[in-house]
Amino acid sequence: MIQSPRGADDILPPESARLRALEQRFIETASRFGYREIRTPIFEEAALFEKGTGETTDLVTKEMYVFSDRGGRTLALRPEGTPPIVRAAVQHHLLKQNPYLKASYAGPMFRYERPQRGRGRQFHQAGVEFIGVSDPLADAEVIHLLVSFLSECGVSDYRVLLNNLGCTGDRATYRAALTAFLIPHIQHLSRVDQERFSRNPFRVLDSKEPETQRFLAERTDLPCIADHLCASCREHNAGVLTALGSLCIPYEETPTLVRGLDYYERTVFEVVSSRLGAQDAIGGGGRYDHIFTSIGFKEDYPAVGFAIGLERLLLASVPAGSESGLHFLVIPIGESARGPAFRLVARLRQSLAVDLAWGISSLRAALRSADRQKTPFVGIIGDEELRENVLILRNMKTGEQMRLSLDDPASLSLLIQNELQKN
Ligand code: AMP
Repeated sequence: MIQSPRGADDILPPESARLRALEQRFIETASRFGYREIRTPIFEEAALFEKGTGETTDLVTKEMYVFSDRGGRTLALRPEGTPPIVRAAVQHHLLKQNPYLKASYAGPMFRYERPQRGRGRQFHQAGVEFIGVSDPLADAEVIHLLVSFLSECGVSDYRVLLNNLGCTGDRATYRAALTAFLIPHIQHLSRVDQERFSRNPFRVLDSKEPETQRFLAERTDLPCIADHLCASCREHNAGVLTALGSLCIPYEETPTLVRGLDYYERTVFEVVSSRLGAQDAIGGGGRYDHIFTSIGFKEDYPAVGFAIGLERLLLASVPAGSESGLHFLVIPIGESARGPAFRLVARLRQSLAVDLAWGISSLRAALRSADRQKTPFVGIIGDEELRENVLILRNMKTGEQMRLSLDDPASLSLLIQNELQKN
Protein backbone atom coordinates (compact mmCIF):
# COMPACT_ATOMS: atom_id res chain seq x y z
CA MET A 1 0.00 0.00 0.00
CA ILE A 2 1.33 3.45 -0.87
CA GLN A 3 1.96 5.59 2.20
CA SER A 4 3.29 9.11 2.73
CA PRO A 5 7.09 9.28 2.25
CA ARG A 6 9.19 8.58 5.36
CA GLY A 7 9.55 11.73 7.45
CA ALA A 8 6.77 13.57 5.57
CA ASP A 9 3.64 13.26 7.67
CA ASP A 10 0.02 14.05 6.96
CA ILE A 11 -1.16 16.75 9.34
CA LEU A 12 -4.64 15.82 10.50
CA PRO A 13 -7.16 17.70 12.65
CA PRO A 14 -6.77 19.05 15.29
CA GLU A 15 -3.02 19.56 14.55
CA SER A 16 -3.79 21.04 11.12
CA ALA A 17 -5.82 23.86 12.69
CA ARG A 18 -3.13 24.51 15.31
CA LEU A 19 -0.41 24.70 12.67
CA ARG A 20 -2.42 27.08 10.48
CA ALA A 21 -3.20 29.28 13.51
CA LEU A 22 0.49 29.33 14.50
CA GLU A 23 1.62 30.46 11.05
CA GLN A 24 -0.99 33.19 11.00
CA ARG A 25 -0.21 34.31 14.53
CA PHE A 26 3.50 34.48 13.75
CA ILE A 27 2.97 36.68 10.68
CA GLU A 28 0.67 38.95 12.76
CA THR A 29 3.06 39.19 15.72
CA ALA A 30 5.96 39.95 13.35
CA SER A 31 3.89 42.68 11.68
CA ARG A 32 3.73 44.47 15.05
CA PHE A 33 7.55 44.58 14.87
CA GLY A 34 7.41 46.01 11.32
CA TYR A 35 7.79 42.82 9.26
CA ARG A 36 5.76 42.01 6.16
CA GLU A 37 5.36 38.54 4.71
CA ILE A 38 7.23 37.36 1.62
CA ARG A 39 6.26 34.02 0.09
CA THR A 40 9.03 32.46 -1.95
CA PRO A 41 8.75 29.25 -4.03
CA ILE A 42 9.34 25.96 -2.25
CA PHE A 43 11.99 25.10 -4.85
CA GLU A 44 14.89 27.22 -6.04
CA GLU A 45 18.04 26.77 -8.08
CA ALA A 46 20.21 24.41 -6.01
CA ALA A 47 23.12 26.86 -6.41
CA LEU A 48 21.29 29.41 -4.23
CA PHE A 49 21.71 27.13 -1.19
CA GLU A 50 25.12 25.75 -2.22
CA LYS A 51 26.49 29.29 -2.24
CA GLY A 52 24.21 30.90 0.36
CA THR A 53 23.85 28.22 3.04
CA GLY A 54 27.36 26.97 2.35
CA GLU A 55 29.04 24.08 0.59
CA THR A 56 30.56 22.60 3.76
CA THR A 57 27.31 22.44 5.74
CA ASP A 58 25.52 19.15 6.47
CA LEU A 59 22.42 20.87 5.22
CA VAL A 60 23.78 21.19 1.68
CA THR A 61 26.09 18.17 1.45
CA LYS A 62 23.85 15.56 3.07
CA GLU A 63 20.34 16.83 3.57
CA MET A 64 19.25 18.75 0.50
CA TYR A 65 16.65 17.31 -1.88
CA VAL A 66 18.20 18.07 -5.29
CA PHE A 67 16.57 17.16 -8.59
CA SER A 68 16.66 17.99 -12.28
CA ASP A 69 13.51 19.25 -13.91
CA ARG A 70 12.47 18.34 -17.44
CA GLY A 71 14.37 21.34 -18.77
CA GLY A 72 17.63 20.08 -17.24
CA ARG A 73 17.78 22.73 -14.47
CA THR A 74 19.29 21.65 -11.14
CA LEU A 75 16.76 22.59 -8.48
CA ALA A 76 16.43 22.00 -4.75
CA LEU A 77 13.47 21.83 -2.39
CA ARG A 78 14.21 24.66 0.02
CA PRO A 79 15.95 23.43 3.19
CA GLU A 80 15.72 26.84 4.86
CA GLY A 81 14.19 30.28 4.36
CA THR A 82 17.06 32.78 4.44
CA PRO A 83 18.72 32.46 0.98
CA PRO A 84 15.35 32.68 -0.84
CA ILE A 85 14.45 35.93 0.99
CA VAL A 86 17.89 37.35 0.18
CA ARG A 87 17.42 36.40 -3.49
CA ALA A 88 13.94 37.94 -3.55
CA ALA A 89 15.24 41.16 -1.97
CA VAL A 90 17.80 41.57 -4.77
CA GLN A 91 15.60 40.33 -7.60
CA HIS A 92 12.82 42.80 -6.76
CA HIS A 93 15.13 45.70 -5.77
CA LEU A 94 13.52 45.79 -2.32
CA LEU A 95 16.61 47.36 -0.78
CA LYS A 96 16.82 50.06 -3.43
CA GLN A 97 13.39 51.41 -2.55
CA ASN A 98 13.98 51.40 1.24
CA PRO A 99 17.03 51.71 3.48
CA TYR A 100 16.18 48.38 5.10
CA LEU A 101 13.90 45.39 4.67
CA LYS A 102 11.98 43.50 7.34
CA ALA A 103 10.56 40.28 5.87
CA SER A 104 8.67 37.45 7.55
CA TYR A 105 7.86 34.00 6.15
CA ALA A 106 6.17 30.74 7.12
CA GLY A 107 5.91 27.44 5.30
CA PRO A 108 7.30 23.98 4.62
CA MET A 109 11.03 23.19 4.47
CA PHE A 110 12.69 19.94 3.36
CA ARG A 111 15.74 18.17 4.73
CA TYR A 112 16.85 14.58 4.24
CA GLU A 113 17.46 13.81 7.91
CA ARG A 114 16.86 10.71 10.03
CA PRO A 115 13.25 11.18 11.17
CA GLN A 116 12.50 11.11 14.89
CA ARG A 117 10.22 12.95 17.34
CA GLY A 118 10.47 16.65 16.41
CA ARG A 119 12.56 15.94 13.29
CA GLY A 120 10.95 15.41 9.90
CA ARG A 121 11.99 15.46 6.26
CA GLN A 122 9.18 17.91 5.56
CA PHE A 123 8.57 20.32 8.42
CA HIS A 124 7.41 23.89 8.88
CA GLN A 125 9.31 26.99 9.85
CA ALA A 126 8.31 30.58 10.53
CA GLY A 127 11.00 33.22 10.56
CA VAL A 128 12.12 36.77 9.89
CA GLU A 129 15.02 38.50 8.18
CA PHE A 130 15.99 42.05 9.12
CA ILE A 131 18.25 43.25 6.28
CA GLY A 132 20.19 46.51 5.96
CA VAL A 133 20.97 47.35 9.60
CA SER A 134 24.19 46.46 11.44
CA ASP A 135 23.18 48.04 14.78
CA PRO A 136 23.35 45.56 17.73
CA LEU A 137 19.86 46.81 18.67
CA ALA A 138 18.59 44.98 15.56
CA ASP A 139 19.99 41.67 16.93
CA ALA A 140 18.28 42.31 20.28
CA GLU A 141 15.04 43.24 18.54
CA VAL A 142 14.80 39.97 16.59
CA ILE A 143 15.49 37.99 19.78
CA HIS A 144 12.76 40.05 21.46
CA LEU A 145 10.34 39.08 18.68
CA LEU A 146 11.28 35.40 19.06
CA VAL A 147 10.67 35.30 22.82
CA SER A 148 7.52 37.45 22.57
CA PHE A 149 6.08 34.97 20.11
CA LEU A 150 6.96 32.01 22.34
CA SER A 151 5.24 33.68 25.30
CA GLU A 152 2.15 34.35 23.18
CA CYS A 153 2.08 30.64 22.32
CA GLY A 154 2.15 29.71 25.99
CA VAL A 155 5.74 28.42 25.98
CA SER A 156 7.44 29.53 29.15
CA ASP A 157 10.10 26.95 30.02
CA TYR A 158 12.67 27.92 27.41
CA ARG A 159 16.27 29.18 27.58
CA VAL A 160 17.93 31.63 25.22
CA LEU A 161 21.51 30.54 24.41
CA LEU A 162 23.74 33.23 22.95
CA ASN A 163 27.22 33.45 21.47
CA ASN A 164 29.30 35.75 19.29
CA LEU A 165 31.26 34.11 16.47
CA GLY A 166 33.22 37.25 15.59
CA CYS A 167 34.00 38.45 12.06
CA THR A 168 35.88 36.58 9.31
CA GLY A 169 39.26 37.67 10.72
CA ASP A 170 38.38 36.59 14.28
CA ARG A 171 37.19 33.23 13.08
CA ALA A 172 40.40 32.64 11.15
CA THR A 173 42.55 33.03 14.28
CA TYR A 174 40.07 31.05 16.37
CA ARG A 175 39.91 28.28 13.75
CA ALA A 176 43.73 27.99 13.89
CA ALA A 177 43.69 27.81 17.72
CA LEU A 178 40.83 25.29 17.81
CA THR A 179 42.39 23.10 15.10
CA ALA A 180 45.75 23.06 16.88
CA PHE A 181 43.97 22.10 20.11
CA LEU A 182 41.80 19.34 18.63
CA ILE A 183 44.32 17.58 16.34
CA PRO A 184 46.17 15.74 19.16
CA HIS A 185 42.80 14.66 20.65
CA ILE A 186 41.04 13.72 17.46
CA GLN A 187 40.58 10.09 18.54
CA HIS A 188 38.40 11.27 21.47
CA LEU A 189 35.81 12.66 19.06
CA SER A 190 33.04 10.49 17.66
CA ARG A 191 33.59 9.13 14.13
CA VAL A 192 30.99 11.55 12.70
CA ASP A 193 32.76 14.48 14.35
CA GLN A 194 36.18 13.42 13.08
CA GLU A 195 34.75 13.77 9.60
CA ARG A 196 32.98 17.06 10.49
CA PHE A 197 36.24 18.36 11.91
CA SER A 198 37.97 17.98 8.55
CA ARG A 199 35.21 20.01 6.84
CA ASN A 200 34.54 22.62 9.54
CA PRO A 201 36.20 22.37 12.98
CA PHE A 202 33.60 24.72 14.55
CA ARG A 203 30.89 22.10 14.07
CA VAL A 204 32.60 19.88 16.62
CA LEU A 205 31.76 22.42 19.32
CA ASP A 206 27.98 22.04 19.29
CA SER A 207 28.02 18.34 18.45
CA LYS A 208 25.19 16.24 19.85
CA GLU A 209 27.38 13.10 19.85
CA PRO A 210 27.77 11.85 23.46
CA GLU A 211 31.45 10.90 22.97
CA THR A 212 32.37 14.38 21.73
CA GLN A 213 30.21 16.12 24.35
CA ARG A 214 31.94 14.15 27.13
CA PHE A 215 35.37 15.10 25.82
CA LEU A 216 34.53 18.80 25.44
CA ALA A 217 32.90 19.01 28.89
CA GLU A 218 36.09 17.68 30.50
CA ARG A 219 38.41 20.13 28.72
CA THR A 220 38.56 23.36 30.67
CA ASP A 221 41.41 24.52 28.41
CA LEU A 222 39.26 24.43 25.25
CA PRO A 223 40.02 27.62 23.26
CA CYS A 224 37.13 30.09 23.47
CA ILE A 225 35.99 32.40 20.66
CA ALA A 226 35.48 35.25 23.16
CA ASP A 227 39.29 35.42 23.52
CA HIS A 228 39.69 35.95 19.78
CA LEU A 229 37.17 38.77 19.16
CA CYS A 230 38.39 42.06 17.66
CA ALA A 231 37.48 45.36 19.34
CA SER A 232 34.58 46.06 17.01
CA CYS A 233 33.01 42.59 17.52
CA ARG A 234 33.45 42.92 21.28
CA GLU A 235 31.66 46.26 21.13
CA HIS A 236 28.86 44.77 19.04
CA ASN A 237 28.45 41.91 21.51
CA ALA A 238 28.33 44.30 24.47
CA GLY A 239 25.63 46.31 22.64
CA VAL A 240 23.48 43.19 22.15
CA LEU A 241 23.85 42.11 25.80
CA THR A 242 22.98 45.58 27.11
CA ALA A 243 19.91 45.80 24.87
CA LEU A 244 18.70 42.33 25.95
CA GLY A 245 19.19 43.38 29.57
CA SER A 246 17.16 46.54 29.00
CA LEU A 247 14.33 44.39 27.57
CA CYS A 248 14.59 42.04 30.59
CA ILE A 249 15.27 39.04 28.34
CA PRO A 250 17.28 36.40 30.24
CA TYR A 251 20.06 34.78 28.18
CA GLU A 252 22.91 32.34 28.74
CA GLU A 253 26.26 33.05 27.13
CA THR A 254 27.23 29.74 25.49
CA PRO A 255 30.75 29.70 23.98
CA THR A 256 30.16 26.32 22.26
CA LEU A 257 27.09 27.49 20.32
CA VAL A 258 28.10 27.77 16.65
CA ARG A 259 24.99 26.58 14.74
CA GLY A 260 25.22 24.64 11.53
CA LEU A 261 25.40 27.21 8.79
CA ASP A 262 28.43 28.87 7.23
CA TYR A 263 27.00 32.34 6.90
CA TYR A 264 26.62 33.32 10.55
CA GLU A 265 28.96 35.86 12.04
CA ARG A 266 28.93 37.84 15.26
CA THR A 267 25.64 37.11 17.05
CA VAL A 268 24.21 33.57 17.06
CA PHE A 269 21.38 32.38 19.30
CA GLU A 270 19.18 29.40 19.92
CA VAL A 271 16.07 28.85 22.02
CA VAL A 272 15.85 25.43 23.67
CA SER A 273 13.09 23.82 25.72
CA SER A 274 13.35 20.99 28.21
CA ARG A 275 9.95 19.69 27.04
CA LEU A 276 11.40 18.56 23.72
CA GLY A 277 13.83 15.73 24.51
CA ALA A 278 16.81 15.10 22.19
CA GLN A 279 15.77 17.63 19.54
CA ASP A 280 15.52 20.45 22.05
CA ALA A 281 15.94 23.54 19.82
CA ILE A 282 12.69 25.36 19.06
CA GLY A 283 14.34 28.05 17.01
CA GLY A 284 17.55 29.82 16.29
CA GLY A 285 19.27 32.39 14.18
CA GLY A 286 21.96 34.98 14.03
CA ARG A 287 23.68 37.71 12.05
CA TYR A 288 24.84 37.14 8.48
CA ASP A 289 26.51 40.20 7.00
CA HIS A 290 28.11 38.63 3.90
CA ILE A 291 25.58 36.23 2.43
CA PHE A 292 24.74 38.51 -0.52
CA THR A 293 28.22 38.39 -2.06
CA SER A 294 28.59 34.67 -1.20
CA ILE A 295 25.56 34.02 -3.38
CA GLY A 296 27.12 36.15 -6.13
CA PHE A 297 25.25 39.43 -5.77
CA LYS A 298 27.30 42.61 -6.18
CA GLU A 299 26.77 44.27 -2.83
CA ASP A 300 26.52 43.02 0.78
CA TYR A 301 23.98 44.19 3.34
CA PRO A 302 24.20 43.52 7.07
CA ALA A 303 21.38 41.24 8.21
CA VAL A 304 20.04 39.27 11.15
CA GLY A 305 17.21 36.76 11.42
CA PHE A 306 15.86 33.56 12.92
CA ALA A 307 13.62 30.58 12.19
CA ILE A 308 11.31 28.69 14.52
CA GLY A 309 10.36 25.05 13.94
CA LEU A 310 6.57 24.98 14.16
CA GLU A 311 6.18 21.24 14.85
CA ARG A 312 8.58 21.61 17.77
CA LEU A 313 6.75 24.71 18.95
CA LEU A 314 3.53 22.67 18.98
CA LEU A 315 5.26 19.96 21.04
CA ALA A 316 6.57 22.55 23.50
CA SER A 317 3.33 24.51 23.93
CA VAL A 318 0.39 23.52 26.06
CA PRO A 319 -2.41 22.17 23.84
CA ALA A 320 -5.50 24.38 23.43
CA GLY A 321 -8.75 23.49 25.21
CA SER A 322 -10.79 22.08 22.37
CA GLU A 323 -9.52 18.98 20.59
CA SER A 324 -12.06 19.50 17.82
CA GLY A 325 -11.21 23.18 17.38
CA LEU A 326 -14.94 23.93 17.85
CA HIS A 327 -16.35 26.53 20.21
CA PHE A 328 -19.90 25.33 19.99
CA LEU A 329 -21.75 22.15 18.99
CA VAL A 330 -25.48 22.34 18.21
CA ILE A 331 -27.48 19.17 18.93
CA PRO A 332 -30.93 18.85 17.31
CA ILE A 333 -33.12 16.20 18.93
CA GLY A 334 -35.71 14.82 16.53
CA GLU A 335 -36.58 15.53 12.92
CA SER A 336 -38.30 18.91 13.36
CA ALA A 337 -35.28 20.47 15.14
CA ARG A 338 -32.90 19.76 12.24
CA GLY A 339 -33.92 22.74 10.08
CA PRO A 340 -33.77 25.42 12.81
CA ALA A 341 -30.48 23.96 14.14
CA PHE A 342 -28.97 23.99 10.63
CA ARG A 343 -29.95 27.66 10.12
CA LEU A 344 -28.64 28.68 13.54
CA VAL A 345 -25.26 27.02 12.90
CA ALA A 346 -24.98 28.81 9.54
CA ARG A 347 -25.59 32.20 11.17
CA LEU A 348 -23.23 31.64 14.11
CA ARG A 349 -20.35 30.68 11.83
CA GLN A 350 -19.74 34.34 11.07
CA SER A 351 -18.11 34.70 14.47
CA LEU A 352 -17.56 31.25 16.02
CA ALA A 353 -16.28 27.77 15.09
CA VAL A 354 -19.58 25.89 15.16
CA ASP A 355 -20.84 22.56 13.90
CA LEU A 356 -23.95 20.45 13.97
CA ALA A 357 -23.83 17.08 15.75
CA TRP A 358 -24.05 15.29 12.39
CA GLY A 359 -25.23 11.70 12.47
CA ILE A 360 -25.49 11.45 16.24
CA SER A 361 -29.00 10.36 17.18
CA SER A 362 -29.11 10.51 20.98
CA LEU A 363 -28.49 13.46 23.28
CA ARG A 364 -26.31 11.33 25.51
CA ALA A 365 -24.04 10.26 22.65
CA ALA A 366 -23.73 13.87 21.45
CA LEU A 367 -22.80 15.15 24.92
CA ARG A 368 -20.28 12.36 25.34
CA SER A 369 -18.68 13.25 22.00
CA ALA A 370 -18.54 16.97 22.91
CA ASP A 371 -16.99 16.07 26.24
CA ARG A 372 -14.36 13.85 24.65
CA GLN A 373 -13.45 16.56 22.16
CA LYS A 374 -13.41 19.20 24.93
CA THR A 375 -15.88 21.39 23.02
CA PRO A 376 -16.59 24.18 25.54
CA PHE A 377 -20.29 24.85 24.71
CA VAL A 378 -23.20 22.88 23.31
CA GLY A 379 -26.71 23.97 22.31
CA ILE A 380 -29.64 21.58 22.61
CA ILE A 381 -32.86 21.95 20.61
CA GLY A 382 -35.65 19.44 21.27
CA ASP A 383 -39.42 19.52 20.69
CA GLU A 384 -40.16 21.48 23.85
CA GLU A 385 -37.49 24.08 23.03
CA LEU A 386 -38.85 24.41 19.50
CA ARG A 387 -42.33 25.14 20.84
CA GLU A 388 -40.87 27.96 22.97
CA ASN A 389 -38.46 29.03 20.20
CA VAL A 390 -35.40 28.67 22.47
CA LEU A 391 -32.26 26.56 22.77
CA ILE A 392 -30.56 25.22 25.89
CA LEU A 393 -27.00 26.53 26.12
CA ARG A 394 -24.79 24.24 28.20
CA ASN A 395 -21.33 25.11 29.50
CA MET A 396 -19.56 21.75 29.29
CA LYS A 397 -16.98 22.62 31.91
CA THR A 398 -19.33 23.77 34.68
CA GLY A 399 -22.52 21.95 33.61
CA GLU A 400 -24.43 25.24 33.88
CA GLN A 401 -27.41 25.58 31.51
CA MET A 402 -29.58 28.49 30.35
CA ARG A 403 -32.36 29.02 27.83
CA LEU A 404 -31.82 31.56 25.06
CA SER A 405 -34.00 32.75 22.17
CA LEU A 406 -33.40 31.10 18.80
CA ASP A 407 -34.20 34.42 17.12
CA ASP A 408 -31.19 36.24 18.52
CA PRO A 409 -28.00 34.50 17.32
CA ALA A 410 -25.99 37.71 17.77
CA SER A 411 -26.57 37.76 21.57
CA LEU A 412 -25.90 34.03 21.77
CA SER A 413 -22.60 34.45 19.93
CA LEU A 414 -21.56 37.40 22.10
CA LEU A 415 -22.30 35.47 25.26
CA ILE A 416 -20.22 32.48 24.14
CA GLN A 417 -17.34 34.75 23.06
CA ASN A 418 -17.34 36.52 26.44
CA GLU A 419 -17.30 33.21 28.30
CA LEU A 420 -14.47 31.86 26.08
CA GLN A 421 -12.35 34.90 26.84
CA LYS A 422 -12.73 34.32 30.59
CA ASN A 423 -11.08 30.88 30.27
P1 AMP B 1 17.75 25.91 11.48
O1 AMP B 1 17.12 26.38 10.18
O2 AMP B 1 18.56 24.66 11.31
O3 AMP B 1 18.41 27.01 12.20
O4 AMP B 1 16.54 25.43 12.40
C1 AMP B 1 15.64 26.29 13.02
C2 AMP B 1 14.57 25.48 13.71
O5 AMP B 1 13.86 24.71 12.76
C3 AMP B 1 15.12 24.44 14.67
O6 AMP B 1 15.37 25.02 15.94
C4 AMP B 1 13.98 23.45 14.72
O7 AMP B 1 12.97 23.89 15.61
C5 AMP B 1 13.44 23.48 13.33
N1 AMP B 1 13.95 22.36 12.53
C6 AMP B 1 15.12 22.26 11.87
N2 AMP B 1 15.22 21.07 11.23
C7 AMP B 1 14.08 20.39 11.49
C8 AMP B 1 13.55 19.11 11.10
N3 AMP B 1 14.22 18.29 10.29
N4 AMP B 1 12.32 18.76 11.56
C9 AMP B 1 11.61 19.59 12.36
N5 AMP B 1 12.04 20.81 12.74
C10 AMP B 1 13.26 21.21 12.32
